[in-house]
Order: sequence, then C-alpha cells, then structure tokens
Amino acid sequence: MYKKLIYMVLISLLLLSGCSLSGLSTQSQYEIKQGRLSLHNWDYDTGEIIRLNGEWEFYWKDSLTQNKEAKQYITVPSTWHRNIDQPPLGYGSYRLVIENVSNDQQLGLSLPTVSTAYVLWINGEKVASSGEIGVTEQETVPYFKPQDVFFYAENSQVEVVMEVANFHYRDGGIWESINFGNANDIKDRSFTIIAFELIIFGALLLSGLYHVVLFILRKQNLSMLLFSLVCFIVSIRILVTKKMLITQFFPFIQWEYIIKMEYLTFYCSVPLFCWVLHMLYPRQFSKLFCKILTIISLVSSLFVIVTVPKVFTQSIIIYQIVTLLGIIYVSFALIRALKEKEEGALFVNLCAGFLSITVINDILSVNSIIHTYNLSSLGLFVFIFSQSSIIAHRSEKAFSEMERVSNELAILNKTLEEKVHERTISLQNSRDELEKANKQLRNLSYEDQLTKIPNRRYFDSTFEHNWLNALKVEQMISVAYIDIDYFKLYNDTYGHEAGDECLKKVASTLKTTLRDYEGHIARIGGEEFIAIFTHLDNDELHQVCENCRLAISQLDIPHEGSLISNRVTVSIGAAQVIPTKNIKRNELIKAADESLYKAKEKGRNQIVIATL
Ligand code: GH3
Ligand code: MG
Ligand code: MG
Repeated sequence: MYKKLIYMVLISLLLLSGCSLSGLSTQSQYEIKQGRLSLHNWDYDTGEIIRLNGEWEFYWKDSLTQNKEAKQYITVPSTWHRNIDQPPLGYGSYRLVIENVSNDQQLGLSLPTVSTAYVLWINGEKVASSGEIGVTEQETVPYFKPQDVFFYAENSQVEVVMEVANFHYRDGGIWESINFGNANDIKDRSFTIIAFELIIFGALLLSGLYHVVLFILRKQNLSMLLFSLVCFIVSIRILVTKKMLITQFFPFIQWEYIIKMEYLTFYCSVPLFCWVLHMLYPRQFSKLFCKILTIISLVSSLFVIVTVPKVFTQSIIIYQIVTLLGIIYVSFALIRALKEKEEGALFVNLCAGFLSITVINDILSVNSIIHTYNLSSLGLFVFIFSQSSIIAHRSEKAFSEMERVSNELAILNKTLEEKVHERTISLQNSRDELEKANKQLRNLSYEDQLTKIPNRRYFDSTFEHNWLNALKVEQMISVAYIDIDYFKLYNDTYGHEAGDECLKKVASTLKTTLRDYEGHIARIGGEEFIAIFTHLDNDELHQVCENCRLAISQLDIPHEGSLISNRVTVSIGAAQVIPTKNIKRNELIKAADESLYKAKEKGRNQIVIATL
C-alpha cells in the first residue's frame, strides 16, 4: 500500500515538474524591491525568463502623474483587496522600473489575465490594453486578454506602468505573474503553452466525440455519455481559462459570458466526474454522494447563470470547499477500490492523485497563496485518460468474452453435429443389424434346423403363392412327396444320429437335383420331403421324380435293415393339375399323398404320379 502511495506521489511530482514548462521558474534570483528590479548581471542569451514577482509601486485610485504622494507598495501577483486591504472594486496603477538592461535587444513581456481591465505603458508609451479602464463601473469594460508585448529599453531602463480597474469581479489587480525576457524567448514560451493547451483541447474533444459515438451505438451504456460530457466540458474549460483561447476563436464574445463559461464548466465537471467514477466503481462511489454534488452543482450553476460576475464570483470559495471535500471523498473511495482490488484501480488512483495535486495547486495559485502555473487541465486530461483506458479495457474484455462464448458455441455446435452424425450412423448400424436379425429370424422360421433346407412353414406359404399364381396364369402346378423307405429300421440299425446324417445327405441331394427344374424342396416331417414345381408337364415331372429317386439311390448309403434293398431308397408320390376355381389346393396335396401311399404299397423305391 505504502509502496503504491509512494509511486503515486513520485509520478505526480515528476509530471508536475515536467509540466512546469520552459522558463517557468517560480523563484527568481532577481528581486523586485520598492518597484525596482536591477538586471546588471542578467545574461540576455540564456533564455531565462524572469517572473516579475515582488514589490511593485502602487497608486490606489490614482494615475501616476497626478499624485506621487499616494505611492504604496504592493506584492505582484496578488489582489489589492488581499494585499493592501483595499476594496475589491476600484482602480489603481502599478509601476515597476527594470534597470541595467541593454538598449539594443528586443525585450518582451508576457501578460496574463488581469482583473479586469488594464492599459500598459512601457517607457511612457501605451503598448497594450485589455478592456477599457475607468473610474466607475459604467466606464469600465472588463476583458481577459493574455498577450505578449515587445519593446526596447531606453537609457538601460524599462518603466512598466499598468493602470488597472476592476468593477466587475470579486477581486482586482495583477493576480498572476507577468513574465519578462528576451523577445524570442517570450514568443517561444507562449507558443509552447498555446500548443500544449490546443493539444489537450483537441485530445479531449476527440475523446468526447468518440465516446458520444460509442453511446449512440449502444444507448444502454450511459457511462459513455457521461464520460463524453466530461470531455466536452473540460475541453471548453481549457478555452476559457489561462490563455483564453476562446478570444482567439471568437474575438467579440463578451467577458461576462467567458467568465460564466469558466465557472459553469468548473461547477458541472465535478459532479459529472463523480458520476463517471460511480459508474466505474459503483461499490465504492455512493450514489447519494453523486446526487448531493449534482444538487450543489445545479444550484451553483443557476446562480452563475442568473447573477452578474461581481456577485457569482463570490460563490466560488464555497464551491472550492465543496470540491476539496469531494476530492477527499474521491481519494478515500479510490483507495478503497484499490484495496478491494477493483480492475484498473491502481492506474486510476495514480492519475487521480495527480489530478488532486494539480487542482490543489490551481486553487492555491488562484488564491495567490503559491505562484505556479495552472495545471488542472493537464491533471484532468491525465485523469480522463485513465478513465478512458478503463472503459476501453472493459469494452475489450466484454468483446473477448463474447468472442470466447461464440467460439465455445461454435465448438458445441460442431460437436453436436458430430454427435448427431455418430448417433445416426449407430442408429443405421442398429437398424441394419436388426434387419439382419429379422432376416435370420425369418430364415430360421422358414428353415429346417437339421437339414438346413426349407421347412413345412416355407412350403405352406410357397405352395399357396405358387397355387394362386398358377390359377391366375392357368399353368400346371405339381407336388411330389418323397419318403425314405423303412427309415425306422434304418434308425434301429444304425442309431438315431446316423439317421440324422442320412437325412441331411438326402435333403442336400434332393435340393441339388431339383435346382435344374426350378423346384422348391422342403422337409415336412420326420423322413418326408415335399417338392413343388411349376411349368412341368407330365413327362418332365416323371423325369425329375426319377432323377431324385436315382440320385438318392446313387448316394449308396448302406441300409441293411431295408426290406427291399441294401441301400437307402425313396418312394415318390406326385400329383399335378392346372388349377381352377373349383379345385381346392388341398386336393392336389391329398392326391400326391395318395400317390405316395400307392408307391409304398407297390413295393417302395418307385414313383407314382397322378393327374387331377
Ligand atoms: P415306410 O417305408 O413305410 O415309410 O417305413 P418307415 O419306417 O420309413 O416309416 P414310419 O413312418 O413307420 O417311420 C418313420 C420313422 O422315421 C420313425 C422315426 O424313427 C424316424 N424319424 C422321424 N424323424 C426322425 C429324425 O428326425 N431323425 C431320425 N434319425 N429319425 C427320424
Ligand atoms: Mg414316413
Ligand atoms: Mg418312410
């Protein structure tokens, strides 16, 4: 914590000293005493600028030439009200003699604003004025016109006489330092200061415009609007203070309005700043505090608008106290933000610290307690810059967050797509497997488990289908029963397992033999098979049945138990018909069964064919 405070102070001091600008030495080795300044060892070429601070001759309510007895001494810069206890409203003449100056070199004076009108004489010659001086309020025209004047010394002397009148402001007199030096140095100095002010003015104006655009683009972001207002107000303030640049842009603008703008910009900027800070750090900056400041500011601003400068300029002291209290509150709140590790709090703290120093500097300077250059615009600029950085940082963070979320969303979408794809494929696979299983199941239900040829269920459905087809196209359909002869005896002789093997061989042989005739074979019971044929005429049916009988016989499976042969034989009973509506398909089956019965009766190992 201490370390941070030290940094704060160090950086502030560094900036402060850096901004003192060339030649603005506060303490000169040359002393003005009783209205005289001797420059016998002043080196014209060093570029040193001398502040003509010190004890000037002063003639209250008098012109120099008329009454030498009225001579007093007054400290410059100061106001005559504070310094020599004269009333703020009045007039008087200042006189200073600069001695031991070269007659050959062009010299210059840099004149600040003087409260509130003056005429400047150098060696008896009128060289500059600001407003119009007079001895009454009506005669006097106030004006603030910082300007540089150039001249030569006469007899190694420069007599500076400034007649000043004030009937319009809370204080009168030369309240800021007059700078003296070689003409070129004075020009350079003014140029530097004006350039510096214009840079800050331009930067603030741009920053204000930029944040207004941001606000227009995103209306809910009120801090942008407040912030741009701060920028505009402070930039206007730069024009109406110090070098009074506004008089360069608008030479005919009345002094009263300039003063009103100066006060209004000050009164408005304080609460606006606090509102911006409240938006940045709502936990540390109380809304109530901002509201109170706003009310004070509004009342003060109204006072400025409706009264004349002589009256409202009195109120500044109150507002300066309010501002100081505000600075104390802001300091505590900012340090709290720093302690609570709020985002960017260290940076804002450093800049706020610097701003506070510049504001205190200005208040002390305006009240002639110290004699330094006005620095609050630089302080404000630095502070505004810090807030702008925080706002920019937050916007950037919000944008990055949005980018991150949208990236995540994109990834999520992609994985979702992949998942859907995976699921679809696995569903497809499952469906294929299911179909396969279904097919297998269907096959199983249509297949005889022992011989692997179609079973009775298959035969039933195929027969029905073929029958209907034959009925439709009026085609011959044939059915043949094939029965192994004396198979019970085969089992008895060789065992049941050998019987199974025999059944397999017979089934496979029948299947192969029927293939050429486009016949369908099925096992319909123990050792009984049935075949269906379409297209076959009687001869062809006879032929195929004979082929089957022979094929089995040629298998040459020994059958010692058979009563008709020593090998396995089959009897075949077939029937055929061209179906009509009057014939039932069972009649064909029945006829084939009868044919088989006949073949058995006739001695087995033979064929009987019936035609319906
Ligand atoms: P036929 O010449 O009159 O047809 O006499 P058969 O002995 O072949 O006829 P029967 O109907 O009397 O006997 C059929 C036999 O078939 C009875 C049974 O032992 C046998 N059998 C039935 N199914 C199977 C089977 O799946 N495996 C085996 N090994 N034998 C079976
Ligand atoms: Mg049988
Ligand atoms: Mg049999």
